[in-house]
Amino acid sequence: MAQEDYYKVLGVDRNASDQEISNAYRKLAKKYHPDLNHEPGAEEKYKQVNEAYEVLHDKQKRAQYDQFGSAGVNGQGGFGGAGQGFGGAGFDTSGFGDFSDIFGDIFGQGRQQRVDPTAPQRGQDLDYTLTIDFMDAIKGKKTQVNYTRSETCGTCGGNGCEKGTHPITCDKCHGTGYMTVTQQSMLGMIRRQTICDKCHGRGVIIEHPCKTCGGKSTVEGKNTIEVDIPAGIDNGQQLRYQGQGEAGVNGGPYGDLYITYRIKPSKVFQRRGQNIYTDVPISFAQATLGDEITVKTVHGDQKLTIPAGTQPNTKFTLRGQGVPYLRGNGNGDQIITVNIVIPKHINEKQKQDLIDFVHDGGGDITPKEKGFFERLKDKLSGED
Ligand SMILES: [Zn+2]
Ligand SMILES: [Zn+2]
Repeated sequence: MAQEDYYKVLGVDRNASDQEISNAYRKLAKKYHPDLNHEPGAEEKYKQVNEAYEVLHDKQKRAQYDQFGSAGVNGQGGFGGAGQGFGGAGFDTSGFGDFSDIFGDIFGQGRQQRVDPTAPQRGQDLDYTLTIDFMDAIKGKKTQVNYTRSETCGTCGGNGCEKGTHPITCDKCHGTGYMTVTQQSMLGMIRRQTICDKCHGRGVIIEHPCKTCGGKSTVEGKNTIEVDIPAGIDNGQQLRYQGQGEAGVNGGPYGDLYITYRIKPSKVFQRRGQNIYTDVPISFAQATLGDEITVKTVHGDQKLTIPAGTQPNTKFTLRGQGVPYLRGNGNGDQIITVNIVIPKHINEKQKQDLIDFVHDGGGDITPKEKGFFERLKDKLSGED
């Protein structure tokens, strides 16, 4: 068969995920399946699609193909399986095996995926989002979380049977949970695996179901857990609470609960990682002469010395006044940006002092007086 680019055959990118490859394959396999599509060329296309999938859904083969192309693939020995059962003349339906495998792949019931339905299975994990206050994220907090989950039925202990009775092995599937059905198709008999219709895949039959859970072996329950939110947790971080998810089946363990933390913003503080950012206004005089001011930190008020001659947007760092690190010692920092506030209104004396200040420095200044109409306009616009 002429070697087509396997990615092109499936219509996927070279960096497509396994899921994308499987999805593309299922779509195309159904589209070109000779049972369903009698257009000329469909069968050839179907073979190509299968060949491409055989290679691309196998990590090792795909890596070899990416590196060496189809030549490398076919020369590597381990690749012989690609396209087997479709090779040569026509479509071989005499052996059931390959055909049911194809259907198995298409319908996601490949033999290799079969699990023992009576084996213990771990319960599902659950996700929960917990919104907390800004300061609680910094200081840490103990709180309770309430949610609903499936729990092992307390009446039957999870076997789904009424007291004194037991589940019996399904006689139709002999406890496997699967059965084989044979269908007539254009190309002959097709055999495929389906879920057992007597036990619905459980492998056992419950003749006297538990009255509490109706034989399901789990019940909806309300669960409450104590969570100890660690000081320093950040927005979007997720913590795992083991065994707080849904009940397992056949005696399997509970799944886990994952709590994602959302943190409400603060009006005062900006947080980035473990550092805190704030702006603080100071006057032109404080910036010029220097001062000691009080600033807010997440750990309480702190003194900050503004040196004489501080320029606008100067940043000061208060070491260790930020958010605690989750693991390890210490805190981040607080970074304070000073805004120098220019007064909008000054009195006549202040004005004269400023003019003198400029003249003393050897400068010149001609303040523009507002006329009557400008002052009136200011009044009307509410600015004065
Ligand atoms: Zn029960
Ligand atoms: Zn069965």
